[in-house]
Amino acid sequence: LNNYLMKKTVLITGAAGFLGSHLCDYFLSKNYKVLGIDNFITGSPKNLSHLTANSDFEFREVDITHDLKIHDSIDYILHFASPASPIDYLQIPLETLRVGSLGTENILKIALRNKARILIASTSEVYGDPLEHPQKEEYCGNVDPVGPRGVYDEAKRFQEALTTAYHTYHGLDIRIARIFNTYGSRMRVNDGRAIPAFMGQVLRNESLTVFGDGSQTRSFCYIDDMIVGIYKLLNSNYTKPMNLGNPDEISLIDFANEIVALAGNNNKIIYKPLPINDPVKRKPDITKAMNILNWKPIVSRKKGLKKTFNYFRSLSLEELKKKEHKFA
Ligand code: NAD
Repeated sequence: LNNYLMKKTVLITGAAGFLGSHLCDYFLSKNYKVLGIDNFITGSPKNLSHLTANSDFEFREVDITHDLKIHDSIDYILHFASPASPIDYLQIPLETLRVGSLGTENILKIALRNKARILIASTSEVYGDPLEHPQKEEYCGNVDPVGPRGVYDEAKRFQEALTTAYHTYHGLDIRIARIFNTYGSRMRVNDGRAIPAFMGQVLRNESLTVFGDGSQTRSFCYIDDMIVGIYKLLNSNYTKPMNLGNPDEISLIDFANEIVALAGNNNKIIYKPLPINDPVKRKPDITKAMNILNWKPIVSRKKGLKKTFNYFRSLSLEELKKKEHKFA
């Protein structure tokens, strides 16, 4: 009983999403009590269904942009609520701006009231289409505020500014994770990102769609590595933004070929025009994370892709065929 009473409580926003649900699992495995909140706008109850019998886990359906009534005592907050893939935030631009601004301030107020340490999920998108390569935390980015991705990029930049102001003005204990592309189980097959898109196409026996000539690069981090990085950042005392990601860079065309090989099919690759503002290059400089957190990704792309492929393969054909996410 004593042990139970001493457990720390972590509030996770965006708990029903890809990263959020993995964070719930990880913090429960580390003996925390987890209070997950989400409004399911891009997440799914299915991602948390395995936790219903866990007495250390509680879930509440809440939209964090509305007035939040969280009266529980909270020790830590992981703020991950936000649409995260272009296919989502282009369809729900206002919700995206609001969750990064109003929603973030609501959560910061809860942190302040509880004197809780808060880690916010920022993104490599704050660098926009970067003119420096790889991207260090000091690089201020190349973002078009009124471009199609502006709604997400600027919401996240504002979120960093607001969180930092709560730190400097109110003394709030903050952590800022600049997360680069992450992949793994529970991504939506239809979320428009390269890995679920390629895997869905392979499993439906369709051609793979590559945008542009496929020479644009990405650096993909496996979910288990990312979760450990987030945990270590939370437990550090570093309050400035920190890059978390895998610097192992690959062109999209090579990547598509790797997934075709993994599936053992002979799918064709077709090319479509590159969307506006699609970044040409992305690669984190993770020197800070390596030095300060003693962290770096350890799961090879081969291993991570195989595990992720097994997840997508376990989905029903009906799920694999869902091409559009319908917003309420
Ligand atoms: P996701 O869409 O799977 O998860 C986001 C969750 O937030 C969803 O469950 C959604 O329903 C919830 N949400 C959105 N608005 C909300 C609101 N107003 N109230 C309550 N819940 C709300 O996306 P993800 O990939 O898991 O991303 C999670 C976080 O990590 C986001 O903040 C994203 O910006 C950040 N991030 C992710 C990546 C990545 O590669 N996946 C990269 C950089 C940053």
